[in-house]
Amino acid sequence: MQGLMMNVPLTITALMRHAERLHGDQEIVSVTADAPLHRYRFADCFARARRLANALAQLGVQPGDRVATLAWNDYRHLELYFGISCSGAICHTVNPRLFAEQLVWIFNHAEDRVLFTDPMFLPLIEKLKPQLPALEHVIVLTSAAAMPQSALPGLLCYETLLAESDSEFDWPMLDEETAAVLCYTSGTTGHPKGVLYSHRALVLHAYAAGLPDALRITRDDTVLPVVPMFHVNAWGVPYLATMLGIKLVMPGPKMGDGETLARLMDDEGVTAALGVPTVWQGLLNYLRSSGRRLKTLKNIAVGGSACPLALMKAFEEEQGVWTLHAWGMTETSPLGTANIPPSNFAELPPEEQDFIRASQGRPVFGVELKIVDGQGRTLPWDGRAFGALKIRGPWVCRGYYRMAHSDAHDADGWFDTGDVATIDPRGYMTITDRTKDVIKSGGEWISSIELENIAMSHPQVAAAAVIGVHHPKWDERPLLIIVSAPGESPAAADLLAHFAGRVADWMIPDAVEFAEELPLTATGKVSKLTLRERYADYVLPPTA
Ligand code: ADP
Repeated sequence: MQGLMMNVPLTITALMRHAERLHGDQEIVSVTADAPLHRYRFADCFARARRLANALAQLGVQPGDRVATLAWNDYRHLELYFGISCSGAICHTVNPRLFAEQLVWIFNHAEDRVLFTDPMFLPLIEKLKPQLPALEHVIVLTSAAAMPQSALPGLLCYETLLAESDSEFDWPMLDEETAAVLCYTSGTTGHPKGVLYSHRALVLHAYAAGLPDALRITRDDTVLPVVPMFHVNAWGVPYLATMLGIKLVMPGPKMGDGETLARLMDDEGVTAALGVPTVWQGLLNYLRSSGRRLKTLKNIAVGGSACPLALMKAFEEEQGVWTLHAWGMTETSPLGTANIPPSNFAELPPEEQDFIRASQGRPVFGVELKIVDGQGRTLPWDGRAFGALKIRGPWVCRGYYRMAHSDAHDADGWFDTGDVATIDPRGYMTITDRTKDVIKSGGEWISSIELENIAMSHPQVAAAAVIGVHHPKWDERPLLIIVSAPGESPAAADLLAHFAGRVADWMIPDAVEFAEELPLTATGKVSKLTLRERYADYVLPPTA
C-alpha cells in the first residue's frame, strides 16, 4: 500500500519562491569586477532572475539547452544560477582557470549556445570563439558604461539585456528530475567528465547541508563562500543560503587576496566561510604578517583536499576560529562527510582529539559509504583496514553527461570515489590518499596525506607535499617537498628527524627538496601530477 502524501517536486524554483516570500529582505553583498562593493537583497536577485529568464527566451534558449557561465562569485552569477535553471535550461558553470584546450573541449562537449562571462575573461573568449561552433551569444556581465571594447561581433551587455527585458515571468512547473546545473570535473586524467545535477539532488543536498550537524551553518550566520561558484556550485552554499535566508558575502575576483577577505569578514560580520586549504593558508599568512585578529568569524569549513591539522590548530589558537573538515567531490554535489566531533570530544586524550580532527568526518544522512579491497570485498570499519572508498546517495551522480559508460560505477549502484580511506567504528572516515597518489613502497602503501600532516606540524614549514619517486629496490619511496615558512631555512635532516616516532621508520621520506611554492590545480589544490612530472627523474640519495 502506498502512502497518501503529496508528491510535490523538489525544485530550486520552489527554493527561490520560498526565499522571496520569507526572507526577501536578506542581504547579498558582492565584490564585482566593476564595483568594489555591491549590496542588494534576495528579492532584488529573484526579480532580476525573472528579467533574465525573459532575456534567455528572447535569445531562443530552449528547455534543456546548456547556458555557460565564466564568472567569479557575485550577485550576477547568483542571478544566473536561478534564472537559467528555473527556466528549464542548464546552468553550465565553467572553471576559467582551466587550460585553453580543456575549455574548448568542455564548451564543445556541452554544446553551450549562450555564454555569460565576466569582462576579464573576454580576451580568452575572443581567442577561443573560432573553435566553438555551437556558441551563438556572448553576454558580458557588466553595465553599459563598463562594456569593454571587443572584436567579437554581436557582443551583448548583461545590464542592458536585463533593462530591456520584461520584469514579469511565470516560472515553468518543472519535474524534479530536470537537469539544473552542469559542472565538469577538472580531469587530471583523461577528458573532463560532466556531472549533471538535477533540481531534486540540489534541493536534497541543501537540506542535508543545512542540518545542524552538517556544516554547522544556520540562519543566524553570515556566510562567505570562498569556494568558487564554478567549483561544485560553491559547495551548494547559494542554495543553502536561499533555503535558510542567510546573508551572503561574495568575494568576486578577490578569492585569493587575504587582505580583502579579512576586510570583508570584519566589515560584513561574516561568521562562517568555506574554502580549500590553500585559501585558508593564504589568509592565515596574511593575518600573521599583519598581526590582525578577525572580529566575527567563528567557523571555516574546509575541504577539497586534506586540511593539515597544524592549519586547523593555528586558526583555533591564533584566531579562535573552529575549522570544520569536510569531504566531497564534484560527483557528490559535493557533501559526503562532515567532521562534527563526538559529544565527549573535550574529555578525550589529545592524540584521540587530533585523530578525530584530522579525519574527514562522518557521512551525513543520505549518503552511504563503504570501503572495499582489491577484489571488491567490503572491509571492516575498524579504523585500520584501508581500501577504495565507495559512496551512494540521492545527490551522487549515477553517470556522466554524454558518456555511455562509466568505469567508476558498479552494478550495485555504488560510485568509486578514487580515494583510499579507513573508517573507524564511530564512522569517522579518514582519507589516506587518492588512489593515484598513494606511495607503493615494496608492496606496502604509504599515505602521502599522513606524511604531509606531520611535515606541516614543523614550525619552519609553510607548505608540504609528499610524492612517490622511483626507487630501484622498493619501486617507490616518498620524497618530501617543502616550502619554508617566511624567513626560515630548515635543514633537511631536521625535517626528517621530525618524523621519528610519529610514523613507522620505513615510512619516513628518503629525501627533502625545497621549493618557492607548490603548483596548484585549477581548483586550488596542490597538483601532485605536476610535482610527479617535475621530479620524474629524481634520483634518491644512495643510502636509501
Ligand atoms: P578535482 O579535484 O578533480 O577537481 P573534486 O573537486 O571533485 O575534483 O575533488 C574531489 C577529490 O578531492 C576527492 O575525491 C578527494 O580526493 C579530494 N578531497 C576532497 N575533500 C577532501 C578532504 N577533506 N580531504 C582529503 N581529500 C579531499
